Amino acid sequence: MSIGIMWFRQDLRLSDNPALTEACRRCDQVLCLFIDDPQDQTISQVGAASRVWLHHSLAALQISLRNKGSELYFARGASEEILEKLIGQTGAQRVYWNRCYDPLTIDRDRRIKLALRDYQPGTFNALLLQEPWDNLKGDGTAYRVFTPYWRSAVAEFDKDPQLLDTLNTPRHIPPLTRSVGKKLQACVALNELCLLPEFDWHRSMMTHWRCGEVAARAQLERFLKSRVNDYGRGRDLPGQEGTSQLSPHLHFGEISPRHVMNRLLGSRRFDQLSDDELIFAKEIVWREFAYCLLYHFPHSIDEPLDTRFRKFRWARDTDAHLRAWQRGQTGVPIVDAGMRELYATGWMHNRVRMIVASYLIKNLLIPWQSGERWFRDTLVDADLASNSMGWQWTAGSGADASPFFRVFNPVLQGDKFDRQGDYVKRWVPELAGIAERYVHKPWELDAQSRDALDYPSPLVDLKETRLRALKAFSDIKGTNRG
Ligand SMILES: Cc1cc2nc3c(=O)[nH]c(=O)nc-3n(C[C@H](O)[C@H](O)[C@H](O)COP(=O)(O)OP(=O)(O)OC[C@H]3O[C@@H](n4cnc5c(N)ncnc54)[C@H](O)[C@@H]3O)c2cc1C
Repeated sequence: MSIGIMWFRQDLRLSDNPALTEACRRCDQVLCLFIDDPQDQTISQVGAASRVWLHHSLAALQISLRNKGSELYFARGASEEILEKLIGQTGAQRVYWNRCYDPLTIDRDRRIKLALRDYQPGTFNALLLQEPWDNLKGDGTAYRVFTPYWRSAVAEFDKDPQLLDTLNTPRHIPPLTRSVGKKLQACVALNELCLLPEFDWHRSMMTHWRCGEVAARAQLERFLKSRVNDYGRGRDLPGQEGTSQLSPHLHFGEISPRHVMNRLLGSRRFDQLSDDELIFAKEIVWREFAYCLLYHFPHSIDEPLDTRFRKFRWARDTDAHLRAWQRGQTGVPIVDAGMRELYATGWMHNRVRMIVASYLIKNLLIPWQSGERWFRDTLVDADLASNSMGWQWTAGSGADASPFFRVFNPVLQGDKFDRQGDYVKRWVPELAGIAERYVHKPWELDAQSRDALDYPSPLVDLKETRLRALKAFSDIKGTNRG
């Protein structure tokens, strides 16, 4: 009678889950397990908002497993110790998991693989279309520029469409027998993982979301039915629901990128996609590119990839400015709208992520790492790979980054992408009543109208601080690049 442990991590789903499929194929009983391990950089070390999502995602997975006659077991602590304990308690002979790509988890998994070598650990790819070592330049090194990375990925998929094939949900997930289940002393209830905070701010945040595999698939289908056909335009308009909002589902592995790509393509090749569909496919591959950077340049989580930026002179004594930015009180409407959307929903539109990041880095001259940390704590899709890439991209210090001298002007961005101010008015209700032409620059109202607003004056002058940033950049521009 063979018993296997299926260790769920960033793959909280039953379908297209190669480790689970293999466990069900090879074992007579499968112990489905989630470990809240403080060392786990991709899952357990994430911030408060993501832990709330994780709680609900695990609850959804629990239901899916119970519907299949199985059960999800939870444990807390160092994964090595817990796996060893559970192997001892159940007599399991095999362990299965899907791979993660952040440096701490890679190290830990290597140690576990070695320690458990007698239990034939089976590891698989469930998180990406291509693993970071699958798509390299001709000389075997990693791409640092997106376009050739994308071209090479598409060439591979066109050559071998099976790379995008998905696995069905296993028909049968063999549960533990009652007698084996009783021996599991290392396990606790989901609530005992304490993923939900004591104060219940999370309840209103979660009214914006449905977690879990079923919800993720429904979200994808809704997007493909209509929004994708106007994605090229809609994805830039924060006042509309123009994007898929799949990011937290993809981060927690509630849906696989293979499934997303498969549903997008149908039986077509990439060159048969419409322009809008192709732009969406590229975004999915940007996520892959981020994982590739994380894997090959793991220090880029908190250090600039372009080493000239190590000498960059940031502003000092910025605590008050950082707090105003975090709370959406900078006096710049589109920045405040974005930061308040983030706090209320755990998510922010991509265009606005770029605007608020540029404002923090270039107008407030605060190191991008401070913004990255805040995003990590408040985003439900906080993802080490995409978050550090997004921040480094905006800072101009990352791979294929926007040049530092490109300073987003939040007023022009607002006029262009939120022309009627719908987005700003939704998240900054203090500005709901003002005329359209002032909505992105309320400081231009006459003094009386301005005084009547319960809204802060701009924290800094946008023009002056832009010049200050360009000056700071010119000081490092000529130095050697790493
Ligand atoms: C400063 C900054 C920080 C960011 N932090 C994160 C983060 O922590 N987690 C995260 O998932 N994304 C992050 N992004 C990327 C992007 O903003 C989000 O992926 C996107 O807004 C999610 O919304 P969506 O699912 O509706 O995206 P869609 O536009 O529908 O795109 C579909 C999917 O493609 C992927 N994707 C889209 N844009 C990007 C991108 N620029 N980089 C990488 N993947 C992308 C996401 O998985 C997304 O779900 C960040 C961007 C910036 C500028």
